[in-house]
Amino acid sequence: MNERQTVIVHVAVPLPLDAPFSYRVPAPLAPAAAVGRRLLVPFGRRKVTGYVLEVVDDDGRELRDVLEFLDDGPLFTPSELALYRWASSYYLHPLGEVIKAALPAGINVQSRRGRGLEEDELTGGRSVKTERVYRAVAGVPETAPPPGKASVLLAHLTERGQESAPELRRLFGECSVQLRRLRELGFVEMAEREIYRDPFRMETVGHDCPLVLNGRQTAALVRLRTALDAGRFTPFLLRGVTGSGKTEVYLQAIAHCLEQGRSALVLVPEIALTPQLVSRFRRRFRCGVAVLHSGLSDGERFDEWRRIRRGEAAIVIGARSAIFAPLAELGMIVVDEEHEGSYKQGEGFRYNARDMALVRGKMAGACVVLGTATPQVTTWHAVAGGKLECLDLPERVNGLPLPSAEIIDVRGARGSILHARLAAEVEENLARGEQTLLFLNRRGFSTWLTCEECGHVLRCPNCQVTLTYHQGRNRHICHYCDYAVPAPSLCPGCGCGRIIHLGLGTEQVEAYVREHFPHARVDRMDRDTTARRGGHARILRKVAERQTDILIGTQMVAKGHDFPGITLVGILSVESTLNIPDYRSAERTFQLVTQLIGRAGRGDDPGRVLIQSLNPDHYALAHAVAGDMDGFYGAELAFRQETGYPPFAHLAALCLSGTAASAVERTSELLAARLRELRRDGGGRVEILGPAPAPLAKLRGRFRRQILLKAADRTTLHRLVRRVRESFQPPAGVRLQVDMDPVDL
Ligand code: ADP
Ligand code: ZN
Repeated sequence: MNERQTVIVHVAVPLPLDAPFSYRVPAPLAPAAAVGRRLLVPFGRRKVTGYVLEVVDDDGRELRDVLEFLDDGPLFTPSELALYRWASSYYLHPLGEVIKAALPAGINVQSRRGRGLEEDELTGGRSVKTERVYRAVAGVPETAPPPGKASVLLAHLTERGQESAPELRRLFGECSVQLRRLRELGFVEMAEREIYRDPFRMETVGHDCPLVLNGRQTAALVRLRTALDAGRFTPFLLRGVTGSGKTEVYLQAIAHCLEQGRSALVLVPEIALTPQLVSRFRRRFRCGVAVLHSGLSDGERFDEWRRIRRGEAAIVIGARSAIFAPLAELGMIVVDEEHEGSYKQGEGFRYNARDMALVRGKMAGACVVLGTATPQVTTWHAVAGGKLECLDLPERVNGLPLPSAEIIDVRGARGSILHARLAAEVEENLARGEQTLLFLNRRGFSTWLTCEECGHVLRCPNCQVTLTYHQGRNRHICHYCDYAVPAPSLCPGCGCGRIIHLGLGTEQVEAYVREHFPHARVDRMDRDTTARRGGHARILRKVAERQTDILIGTQMVAKGHDFPGITLVGILSVESTLNIPDYRSAERTFQLVTQLIGRAGRGDDPGRVLIQSLNPDHYALAHAVAGDMDGFYGAELAFRQETGYPPFAHLAALCLSGTAASAVERTSELLAARLRELRRDGGGRVEILGPAPAPLAKLRGRFRRQILLKAADRTTLHRLVRRVRESFQPPAGVRLQVDMDPVDL
C-alpha cells in the first residue's frame, strides 16, 4: 500500500466494547489485510480473535502488531459489514459480538488447534470434514502395473480421475492392500478432499413442476415479478390462511428471482422448519438449496455456510440466524409466518430477524415478502400507512370454507378439564370416526404443586418459577433451566400427605382423555414428545394416516401444519395466553385462535372450533371467532394508541442481572437515577418505567430487574440509551443488556 509496506487495520473484537481497535500489520502479513479477515491480535495480556473492519495507510502511530490472519480469506464482504454495523447501532450491541453471532460457530474451531486461544472460543468437533480420495497419477511409471484386482482399480481410477475410499470399497470390496501397492509403485496418489455434511442427506429428492395458479395467486405473483424486475427494495405483506397457496407463490416468485441471476432467502420460524418445506424447495429447484437452523450440529452449519459463501446455493431456507446468510446478489427475502415470536432473539444479541429482513432487503434492493394469516398489529399499521403493500389470498386453494367457532363460557363450571358441552362433541366426533384436536398451551402434568396444610409450593431454586410436574418421568421440572427433583410423596414444607396439583398441563389432559374415552387412540404433541429428532414428523404422520383419534397439543400444533382430517378443535384454556403480562397478549390470543381455526376442517364437514374461556366477552376472542380481522386490528390499535404502545411508541428495555440480588437492585436504582438525569439534560421526551423485577425475576441463578423506556420518537429513545451506555458502568458482577423493541415485558 505504501513504501514501508505496513498498513493499519481497524479491528472489532467480540467483547462488550464499542470502539474498534487499531493494529499495525507487519509488512510480511500486509498483503493479507482486507475487510472481513479474521485475525489474532494481542489484547492486554491475552490474545483474542478479531475482525478487520477497515484497512488504512500506516501513519507511523505507536501500535501493537497483528499476530496472524486466520482462514484462507475474508469471512464477510463490505456489504455484509454494513448490515452488521446497522444491527450493532440499532440494537446497541457491540459490533464484534454482532459479527461473531452472525458467523457460524464452527469457524472458531478451525483456528484453535495449537494456538492457545481463550477457553470461550472452544467448541467441539472438527470444522472441516474431509474424506480420503485416490487419484491416478498422470504419466506412465517405469514398471508395469501389478495384475489382478490392482489393475482393475487402476483402470477405474484412470477412467474416473479420482474416487473416494468409501466408494472404492463399495465397488470393489476391501482393497487397501492393492491401493497401497499402487501408491508405492507411483501409479496412484492419495489426498484428503473436503466434504460437506448434509443435514438432509436422507431426503429422496424427485422433481416437481410449478402449479397453475388460481386468480388471486396469479395477481400476487404478477406484482412480485414486477417488483423484482424493477430491482428496487419493495416490501409486501402476503396475507392468507394456511392452504391459501402462499408457499406456491413464494416458489414461483423465487424462480423468477433466480432467472434474474439473483439469490433468495426464506426465513421460517424454528418449529415450522419441517423437512417437508425443504424437500418442496429441493424438488422444485435444481440449484443448491442450503438449510440453516439450530437443529444442525456446528459442523453441519459451518458446511452449509461455506456452500452459501461459495455461491453453491442460490436459495437459503433457515430460522432466525439465517438472516445473516452470506448470499450475494440477494433478490428476495421471504419471512414466512411473520407474526411468530421466534424471530426475536431473546438473550445476548437481541435482534429481530423479521425486522432485519426489511433492513437487509433495503440494503440489497430486494423484494421482501412477509407472509402470514395473522399479521402483527404493527405490520397491519404499516400497511394502512402505505409502507407495505398488501397482497391477499383470502381463500383456501381447495375452496373449502373455514370451520365455525364458538366460545364456551366456563365460569362457574371450573374443576372439570372438558366442559360437558365439549365432552359431548368429542364423544359424537369419535362415534362418527372423525378426528379431534385438544389444544392447551402448557406442557407437563400440572404447573404447580402445593400443600393444602401449609401452602408450601415447589419452586425452582435457580429461577423461582413453580416446577411443572411430569408424570411420565415422575419428576418436577423447571421449564427454564431444566432443574428437576423427584416427585415428593409428602409435603417438603410440613411433612403432611396433603399435596395437590394445580394448573392444568397437556400430560394431565392426556390422562383425563384416556380415562374418559377409553376406546379412542390418543396422541400428544408438545416439546416433551417431540424432543427426539423426527418425533414431530412421526406424530403428524399418524394424524394424517388417521391412526390418531384425539391429538392433544401445545402451540406446536398451531404452527405450520395443516390438519384436514380434524373436524373438531377444542381450546381448553385460552387464559394461558390471554393472561400473559405483555402488552401483546390480546394480539397473541387473536393470532393463536385464528391460526387454530385455519388449520381444521375438510370438504363435507368444515368442522367446529370450541373455545373454553373465563373471559368469553374479550374482544380478541370475539373478533377471532367472528373471523373479523379488521375489527380486531381496529380495536387493538385504538388500545395501543390509548396506552402508548407500539406502533404508537417505541420501547427499549434495560435489563440488569447478577447473582447477588442486592447488587442488582441497587444498580437498577442508580441506572434509573442516571436516566432521569440525562433526560433532564436534554434527553428528550422519554417515559422511564421501573426499575421492576423482569418477567422472570430470577433465571438460571441470576436475579433480573429491568427498566422500560417508552418514547414516541425512535431517535430520541436511541439517543438516551446510547448516552446512558456511554456514561453508566455497572459494578463488577452486574450485567447490563439492552433490548430494543422488547417483546416479552
Ligand atoms: P400455504 O403456504 O398458504 O399454506 P401452499 O402453497 O402450501 O399454501 O398450498 C397448500 C396446498 O395447495 C399445497 O398442497 C399446494 O401444493 C396446493 N396448491 C397451492 N397452489 C395450488 C394451485 N394453484 N393449484 C393446485 N394446488 C395448489
Ligand atoms: Zn429453573
